[in-house]
Amino acid sequence: MNYFGVRDVEVAVIGAGQAGLAAAFHLRRTGYRPDGDFVVLDHSPQPGGAWQFRWPTLTYDAVHGMHALPGMALTDADPARPSAEVIGGYFAAYERRFGLRVHRPVSVTAVRDGDDGRLRVETSQGGYAARAVINATGTWDRPFWPRFPGQQDFRGRQVHSAQYRGPAEFRGARVVVVGGGTSAVQQLIEIAPVAAATTWVTRRPPEFHSGPFGADEGRAAVALVAERVRQGLPPRSVVSVTGLPMTEAVRRARESGVLDRLPLFARLTPDGVAWDDGRTVAADVLLYATGFRAAVDHLAPLRLREAGGGIRLAGTRVVRDPRVHLVGYGPSASTVGANRAGRAAVREVRRLLAETPAGPAGPAAGSGDARAAEDREVPPELVGQVPGPGRE
Ligand SMILES: Cc1cc2nc3c(=O)[nH]c(=O)nc-3n(C[C@H](O)[C@H](O)[C@H](O)COP(=O)(O)OP(=O)(O)OC[C@H]3O[C@@H](n4cnc5c(N)ncnc54)[C@H](O)[C@@H]3O)c2cc1C
Repeated sequence: MNYFGVRDVEVAVIGAGQAGLAAAFHLRRTGYRPDGDFVVLDHSPQPGGAWQFRWPTLTYDAVHGMHALPGMALTDADPARPSAEVIGGYFAAYERRFGLRVHRPVSVTAVRDGDDGRLRVETSQGGYAARAVINATGTWDRPFWPRFPGQQDFRGRQVHSAQYRGPAEFRGARVVVVGGGTSAVQQLIEIAPVAAATTWVTRRPPEFHSGPFGADEGRAAVALVAERVRQGLPPRSVVSVTGLPMTEAVRRARESGVLDRLPLFARLTPDGVAWDDGRTVAADVLLYATGFRAAVDHLAPLRLREAGGGIRLAGTRVVRDPRVHLVGYGPSASTVGANRAGRAAVREVRRLLAETPAGPAGPAAGSGDARAAEDREVPPELVGQVPGPGRE
């Protein structure tokens, strides 16, 4: 720690969701010491990343294609338990097992250019001077609220899917659900049986795909998002290009008409929503399942955005500042993508730190060892029986 209470580290990992933990695992695996060479900062109260906030009725079996973190399987999960509990417990066990020492709740408020080529990471609990930053802050903190004419005059409730806690609060209400993603579909299916009426509106006609979503389709979908990010455009969510899985529940909901969809309305009225052709639907609640944007406001002082409004990446590296990597962003915003991005970012950061001499502050203690230990595997004492989620 220097005179001003700023701690020098080689790498600051911001966010301890799937992407941040994957990065921390690979730092650890290659010999970087937690709290010496790297630090992991997270502003949520508990382990689990954004999963801890997901609605209690989102059970583990409703989550499709959740990939375990690197180095530790997620075994014996009860499919009927809320995914927030299953994954929260699994992340907690993971952090303990690999000794990742996540600092929480710690909010990163800004990342700026610091002295000696370092990045100054300002937090709610002091500062860090880091030679590289791996940003893994996800999207949960930035729900996207669309704007419509008449919104301020609507007399009912307007909520975002991020606030959804289950169908009970919609009992007897007339609900309009806005948005064409998985959350819209899952929440509609839950709400329809208890609501007085539901209406689904989406900007584009939804595309359902039956049968397994193959590796080729997955790669093609991710490539579409990756191309946007390479061009410096704001990323779209991976799900927005993969389409919606046709599960048994979806099939039943389509047959019963719950998923009959209308195009987006033109405006809100005091009593509901209205289209330009004169059609109206009365509503007590508008539920916006309209997705999220990348939570990267704290990086604004670095001026990473391109004219297109996005942050241009080469792999996980920010083109405008190679000291900064974004993981869980754009094409890596899925559990499998976050795993791969965490690994790729660590590989590049190690290369960068090896090539760039440290400033007068000098390298953090142990970092020489860290680089020498390039391909060292997980320390043997950390390898043991894989614990089940929440059972440690
Ligand atoms: C409802 C829903 C269902 C999903 N289902 C699936 C699925 O079935 N399969 C799949 O592969 N993917 C799914 N995804 C996507 C997947 O959850 C994420 O892409 C993946 O978990 C990667 O998460 P992450 O680490 O990037 O972000 P997060 O899990 O959001 O973690 C980010 C962390 O950063 C912290 N943070 C944010 N800002 C700051 C700050 N300024 N300072 C400090 N800390 C900060 C947060 O507290 C949080 O802990 C789903 C997403 C949603 C929204």
